[in-house]
Amino acid sequence: MSARPPPGFGFPLTAAAGFGPSAMLGGAAASRPAAPPPEGSWVCAACQNVNFPTRSTCNARACGRPRAEVDGGPPPAAGAAAAAPEGSWTCPSCGNVNFPTRAACNRRACGLPRPAGV
Ligand SMILES: [Zn+2]
Ligand SMILES: [Zn+2]
Repeated sequence: MSARPPPGFGFPLTAAAGFGPSAMLGGAAASRPAAPPPEGSWVCAACQNVNFPTRSTCNARACGRPRAEVDGGPPPAAGAAAAAPEGSWTCPSCGNVNFPTRAACNRRACGLPRPAGV
């Protein structure tokens, strides 16, 4: 069975959802949900798991195959996740960078319709 969570990995998910005072404490460190994989990461061709550059075997527990067999190259989102795509526009009201396809600011508290010329 592989559904068993690893020991010591108990993230307080209920606290993150606004559980009293701890919501304030978690703000600084836990605001970003997922960091992009570091440069040099590789994707397992067998299970699509993204592995750290230093790993010589797949980090997925159900997989664990040697990199020489399943190295599928770098993840497609590497680098692209950090940079805004071409044609993105910056909201003049709040400074949020929006995707080219958006007709209004993506920031919830803003929602400014896309002005002409940005
Ligand atoms: Zn794998
Ligand atoms: Zn905005």
